[in-house]
Amino acid sequence: MNILPEFRTLRPASIADAVIALAAEGAVALGAGTDLLPNLRRGLGEPSAVVDLTGIEGLREFAPLPDGGLRIGAGVTLEAIAENDLVLKTWPALAQAAQAVAGPTHRAAATLGGNLCQDTRCTFYNQSQWWRASNGFCLKYQGEKCHVVPKSDRCYATYHGDVAPVLMVLDARAEIVGPAGKRSVPMAAFFREVGSDHLTLHPGELLAAVEIPSVAGWTAAYTKVRIRDAIDFPLAGVAVALRREGDRIAGLRVAITGSNSAPLLVPTESLVGGQWNEAAAESLVQLVRKTSNVLKTTLTGVKYRRRVLLAVARQTVETLWNQG
Ligand SMILES: Cc1cc2nc3c(=O)[nH]c(=O)nc-3n(C[C@H](O)[C@H](O)[C@H](O)COP(=O)(O)OP(=O)(O)OC[C@H]3O[C@@H](n4cnc5c(N)ncnc54)[C@H](O)[C@@H]3O)c2cc1C
Repeated sequence: MNILPEFRTLRPASIADAVIALAAEGAVALGAGTDLLPNLRRGLGEPSAVVDLTGIEGLREFAPLPDGGLRIGAGVTLEAIAENDLVLKTWPALAQAAQAVAGPTHRAAATLGGNLCQDTRCTFYNQSQWWRASNGFCLKYQGEKCHVVPKSDRCYATYHGDVAPVLMVLDARAEIVGPAGKRSVPMAAFFREVGSDHLTLHPGELLAAVEIPSVAGWTAAYTKVRIRDAIDFPLAGVAVALRREGDRIAGLRVAITGSNSAPLLVPTESLVGGQWNEAAAESLVQLVRKTSNVLKTTLTGVKYRRRVLLAVARQTVETLWNQG
């Protein structure tokens, strides 16, 4: 039977109190619990305390910035983001990604912070306690061996969040608050490519908000491919932001998810300044191929996931380019 482990639940009313609560050994943050609680029920974690962030007003800020940007608190729901008029008008790719997460009931509760900080996934990890025990557990939790890459000393569980790649191509920054104060990092620096430790948060820190700059001159889109058209994680997800000036690529950012232990920016600088043509499309495909590392971490075949990833990267840039 899957039951929750015993833990204390704390409901701080301010970010400062949440930081104090999270500083305790074994404490974890709770957004809406749509990722955390199913995992705990499967025996994936034994927190000493769960720090429920839903009562913190300061995490629900959702406001335009004076320079044309937008600040979204970590406690804002994905539904609120997907339906917000300003997001739909100015950052539609963000609304697209938020709208593509799980199903409507998840999105009504699920938070931006929880979505970005969600755990990595693997067929050897997202299993019941008895299933994992029969395998001697795995390197991500309770075991000593990665069953995906047995000779490696790191975990290859995959990050499948939809929203992070879009924030990366929009050049967003994460505001982090912790015992040492406040810091702001580019979205890409919020993650590291280690499946068992994929966030660069220090002990006791939490994600407070995300700030997106003005995107004048850029267009952006998110393409997600999944087995079912709802309630499924991306088997491949690609976010693209493009600035086209006449027949020239004036700016191009591409980020991928569902392929590695972290969402990753693809180094596309070599394509900037040129035209979008067959040669550029082939170069992009090679850059995505080099950046990605699709392994047997899901039930969907590796070759299929890789081919889909490369194809949607090319297609998404092509679509934005043709929109002018
Ligand atoms: C059936 C199903 C389908 C799903 N499909 C998708 C999908 O298609 N795409 C997708 O992206 N996700 C999917 N998810 C995962 C999850 O539901 C979403 O990512 C959701 O947005 C998580 O938000 P939450 O607020 O519920 O996070 P929680 O479950 O509360 O938290 C998730 C993790 O983030 C940490 N955390 C939460 N808030 C903060 C914070 N402010 N600072 C630091 N750490 C924090 C928690 O400690 C926990 O480790 C799915 C989940 C289920 C159960």
